[in-house]
Amino acid sequence: MIYLDNAATTPVKAEVLKTMLPFFSEYYGNASNVYSLSLVSRRALDSAREAVAKAVNAKLPAEIFFTGCGTEADNLAVIGIAKSRREQGNHIITSAVEHHAVLNACDYLRREGFEITKLPVDKFGLVRPEQVAEALRPDTVLVSIMTANNEVGTLEPIAEIADAVRGHQAYFHTDAIQAIGAAPIDVQNTGIDALSISAHKFGGPKGVGALYLRTGVRPLPVNYGGGQERGLRSGTENVAGIVGLAKAISLAYRNFEEKISLWKSKRDYLIKNILEKVPYAQLTGHPERRLPGHASFVFAGVEGESLVMQLDRQGICASSGAACASSALGVSHVLEAMKTPQARGSLRLTVDWEIDYADLDKAVEAIAKSVKKLQSRAPKSSFAELR
Ligand SMILES: *Cc1c(COP(=O)(O)O)cnc(C)c1O
Repeated sequence: MIYLDNAATTPVKAEVLKTMLPFFSEYYGNASNVYSLSLVSRRALDSAREAVAKAVNAKLPAEIFFTGCGTEADNLAVIGIAKSRREQGNHIITSAVEHHAVLNACDYLRREGFEITKLPVDKFGLVRPEQVAEALRPDTVLVSIMTANNEVGTLEPIAEIADAVRGHQAYFHTDAIQAIGAAPIDVQNTGIDALSISAHKFGGPKGVGALYLRTGVRPLPVNYGGGQERGLRSGTENVAGIVGLAKAISLAYRNFEEKISLWKSKRDYLIKNILEKVPYAQLTGHPERRLPGHASFVFAGVEGESLVMQLDRQGICASSGAACASSALGVSHVLEAMKTPQARGSLRLTVDWEIDYADLDKAVEAIAKSVKKLQSRAPKSSFAELR
């Protein structure tokens, strides 16, 4: 099997699993109790908070809140911040290419009486900081723009966007879920007020996330209960998962420069070979400002879903756009926002930085073969838009 879908999820790293295991049946104490078994859990949560704070350069570990997944972190940031600031205004700025965890949270807020400005993007999927500046109003309470796009890999200019929001009452949230371990993150120096993390995108377990909240940013909770995570996320802490998230984020920033340069070489090799060997192929997203392991394309005369199924038969895991349950049918909102021709023929290849070149060669060969086969059955008219 060749796994080329790391943007959908990643395997838990051996070192991460090893760190997690004792917290299932040995140190299983509820972190809220006072006896020594529970103290082990509480201490593990404390060190996890420190590790995550260090990885994103937060000022204090207390600015990190653990959640049940990345989606929950996005919901707590977007819905929680908006509702907490109702008296300051009801306007929110986001972009047309956000993950559904942000877009559907905004849709919910619209039904609750908020006004949402969804900024357009250019053909590379970029949001322009000037557009953010122009969209800000006196009643804007939140700007939410992702750090890196999951479908096309584009890295948004978040430092410039944060600068545009600076001095305004609006808080700046960024969904950095694809960017953790793939781009440097510095919440203090970038001027980020809230930032979402999900462990399973960088070698940690599924079902655990984190939200950075700059001191003073205090969303309303989304769920209510025992008051864990200082009242922001009630529910007994997933200690093993949190320990895994912390270990994975620390590993993700180890030997970082070296890792990124290797990763980019593999990505560029993959892009070059696909564009050379596959007829009527076009790269989607930005050619340079993109995630180091992310290669995404559209192919004329091809249905993305059919291609993914053909590749599966050859032992290759890849996806057509996002991996969400709801995206199987219809054109992706991201490619639509970028006005990509042939948007139905999309293929996303996201590689681990340790993948072998031999596997990349095998994948390119299989993709070229399958695309040609599908294209031979396609009507001539479908080749008009791409070269
Ligand atoms: C995966 C992903 C999410 C959702 O995270 P989960 O932990 O799977 O809920 C949100 N935003 C982006 C950009 C993602 O890639």
